[in-house]
This record gives sequence, C-alpha cells and structure tokens, in this order.
Amino acid sequence: MPEGDTVYKVAASMRPLLVGQVLEQVRILTVVGSERLKGSLVTGLETRGKNFLLTLQGKREMMLRVHLGMNGSWHRYAPGASWKGSARDARVQLHTAEHVFVCFTPKNADLFEARELPVFLPVARLGPDLLGPEPKLEVAAQRALSLPDRPLAEVLLDQRVAAGLGNVYKSELCFLGVYPKCALEGRFYEPHEGFSPWTPVGEVGLQAVISLLARGRDALLANLGGWERTTTFDRRREPQRGRATHWVYERGGRPCRVCRAPIQRRVWGGEARVTYWCPGCQP
Ligand SMILES: [Zn+2]
Repeated sequence: MPEGDTVYKVAASMRPLLVGQVLEQVRILTVVGSERLKGSLVTGLETRGKNFLLTLQGKREMMLRVHLGMNGSWHRYAPGASWKGSARDARVQLHTAEHVFVCFTPKNADLFEARELPVFLPVARLGPDLLGPEPKLEVAAQRALSLPDRPLAEVLLDQRVAAGLGNVYKSELCFLGVYPKCALEGRFYEPHEGFSPWTPVGEVGLQAVISLLARGRDALLANLGGWERTTTFDRRREPQRGRATHWVYERGGRPCRVCRAPIQRRVWGGEARVTYWCPGCQP
C-alpha cells in the first residue's frame, strides 16, 4: 500500500506536467457529470497524508481528492497510447494536451468545491501531516492517547492521529523505538528501545509517542528521493548501499538483525494488515 512518502513522490512527479495545464477531457467514474470539468485549469496539486488534492479552476474552483487505498495507482500515458490496466478500473482520467493521467482502482475519488476543504471530513479529520512543513507532533500524540487502550501499531496507522504512515513504517517504527534523549536525533535508522506493536498506547506515554512520530517524520523525509524505501540506513548519505532495507517488515521467520530471534508475523485488523516484530528487541 502506498505510504505518505510514495504519495508525496508521485505528486511531485505529476505536478510539473499537470499544474498549469487545461484539462481537455475529464472522467471520474464516481462523480456524476464529471465531464463538465472539461476546460478547467489545474492550479494546484498537493498532498495531505495519503490524499492527493488537485485544485481545478473552471466556472467555480473545485477540488478533486484521490486516495489510492491498498491497490490504487496513477499511470501516465501519451494521448492515444494503450493502457496497462482495464478501462473498467480507470476511475479517474485527466487528459491534457500532452498527457493522459489515469488512476486505477483508487479507494476514493471525490469532487467538491475548494472552499469546502476545511469541512471536507476525510481531509479535515486528518491528524498533523508528517510530511507537512512543521507538524504539531504533540497534538498528534495527544490524539493518540485519547484512546489509551489501543495497540501502538493501530495508532500509528490511524491517519486521524498523524497522516502519512502506512504498514511498512508502522512495523519498522515499533522496532526502531524512541529517539534517545541525547544525540541520534535525526538518525532515524538507529534502533533504540523498541516497543511491542501490541503495547497499549497509554503505556507508551506522551513523550515516547512524540519521539516515535518524530522518527517517523525523519524516515519519511529521508525516503523522498527516487529510490527504494529504507529504514536501516540513510540513502541520502549512502546511495550505493545494497539490500537489507528493513529491520522487520516482510522478514517473518528470519533472524532479527540485532538479536537473532526469529521475526514474528501476524495478520491483524481491517484490510488484512500484516505486522512484523522481534520478540527479543520489542518486549
Ligand atoms: Zn531482535
């Protein structure tokens, strides 16, 4: 599933090709009358957590929100080129003079007036965006602790707490744990005091949740280049380094990189989320 860093990177690649362009054809399967957006000027493309937000200026200023969910993806084609996915799954089509952007099987594609953004609940409800300029991590941590019995793994995924983390970062952050009080700040890939993903968040406590979210933000920011996501080293500093990209994610049954205990794997929660953890490092 696309995490906040992926969504951010995809938006960054689409922006120069889409913003400033007039839409020559529009089709949004979930929006009746979407063809009437033809002729709109794309004036913005931003992300909020895992949501794409496109601003379209026509007779009125409209906003298109797309959430990829588990299986959605954006593709770009030349006009007239054949598509890799089926037309039935092409829920969003945006045609400019030079490109066709197609979003296959997104979880959501909604259209609303731009002025309604502050009350558009799927976005308005989001917690601080971990890839935003200065996310209020304490606000996010307080939201996290409002239901103190929820397991940490579930809370890290809850976009109403903080927007941007997905399933990979969830498992990796529980393993990486909190930043130590001294030094290491910013060295997101150094494990220190991991938590079992099943720890009630109330037991984790406010300062540790802030620390985990800070580490999550640092890890997201470190993975905005055009490379495979890593949580075991900083690719900005070591671009040539090879595999071993995760501590626990997709390593079920294999030995922990720190203590050699076999990594545990459990399918849990909605949308069949898989969680990985080390029973040795994450008591
Ligand atoms: Zn371990």
